Amino acid sequence: MKYYSLNNKAIKVSFQEAVIQGLAPDKGLYFPETINQLPQSFFEDIENLSNEEIAFKAIQQFVGDDIPEAELKQIISETLSFDFPLVQVEENVYSLELFHGPTMAFKDVGARFMSRCLAYFNKDKDQKNTVLVATSGDTGGAVASGFLGVKGVKVVILYPSGKVSDIQERQLTTLGQNITALEVDGVFDDCQDMVKKAFLDADLNYKNLTSANSINIARWLPQMFYFFFAYKELKKHNKPLIVSCPSGNFGNICAGIMAKKLGLPLTHFVASTNANDTIPRFLENGFYDAKVSIATISNAMDVGNPSNFVRIQEMYNNDLSEFEKDFSSYTYTDEETKFAMKNIHTNSGYIAEPHGAVGYLGLKKELEEQPNSIGFFLETAHPIKFLDIVEPVLNVKLAIPKQIESVLGKEKVSIKIKSFDDLKFFLNHK
Ligand SMILES: *Cc1c(COP(=O)(O)O)cnc(C)c1O
Repeated sequence: MKYYSLNNKAIKVSFQEAVIQGLAPDKGLYFPETINQLPQSFFEDIENLSNEEIAFKAIQQFVGDDIPEAELKQIISETLSFDFPLVQVEENVYSLELFHGPTMAFKDVGARFMSRCLAYFNKDKDQKNTVLVATSGDTGGAVASGFLGVKGVKVVILYPSGKVSDIQERQLTTLGQNITALEVDGVFDDCQDMVKKAFLDADLNYKNLTSANSINIARWLPQMFYFFFAYKELKKHNKPLIVSCPSGNFGNICAGIMAKKLGLPLTHFVASTNANDTIPRFLENGFYDAKVSIATISNAMDVGNPSNFVRIQEMYNNDLSEFEKDFSSYTYTDEETKFAMKNIHTNSGYIAEPHGAVGYLGLKKELEEQPNSIGFFLETAHPIKFLDIVEPVLNVKLAIPKQIESVLGKEKVSIKIKSFDDLKFFLNHK
């Protein structure tokens, strides 16, 4: 399997090269050259397959010969070492809980898969890779946990000082070993700008920099897995299936659409956003007008220019009318989000955190348009990660899960930086 750059189809690389580079040399996102539907028999028989068997079938063509079958199965088994429960919230409304992994956000799946692919590619080499990642909260912890102790890989996480929650900060600053946290005097966009600048900086080429954001295919593609798992459970209802993804960088929803390309019978996708409404506005008026991100209570979705949207457009051959048949996008304010959290809790006892609640709202809206359907939203993080919002809004006290307890007692270690020059100095001298 080859991957081409979305900026220039003539640039083609293998799975391994695409993972190691992260972004193409022309800064385009990589995209698979061919996408083959899975056989009908696979979907007919899916309830008899384990999650690991399903995941292997879903991803094998994208990895090709770059990782042998036995090793790929091992990587998948380590990636999927936790549950993906589908919980009924109301009639026809389900929550797909993606937060039972080590750092309690869905990003564990992609981070674990990617780290193990890199470890495989490095196993006989002296080469070192540096994974550089900017985080608004959850990516940092998932990447730190996923890459801890991986041979030949150094991880450098940039996070905005004072702008992530206490738990999120501990998750990315307390592990040590091959993980370093750089605490940036600035906002998330400053972190992301520094990371982008580092990729463009010729002096840093020798560092083999790669990215662990969803622009990296090894973080993005395994996110397909759980759409299959949800289908396996909901297939018996024999109704059109709507999925709502609380969306920021649009990596998750883009993986869901790829699963549909493989033949997964998902009928409709809803990209539910907070006040960062670039895509809902695009669908309204046809103009793509990226804006500087606005801070909201669902901070992991505070993205003004979603990176993966170009991949979604590619999957629909840039044909907006085809795309709109399968896809809607709705935007919600913080007030609407809190109101939904309260409603869900009052009506069903279910505790949704702000991202999941945005997903719920988008699903409910689409179910009004398509009342004969059934649907699920992605619950992308555990409520404990947003305890500052969930506890006061719902007037509840959350128990601390064991994954979180284990970081609470540890000392934070970070290096403070102010500018790109500080980052460069750090990369050149470590
Ligand atoms: C990253 C994140 C999102 C957004 O996912 P994308 O794939 O970037 O659209 C939503 N919710 C939570 C909790 C996240 O950490």
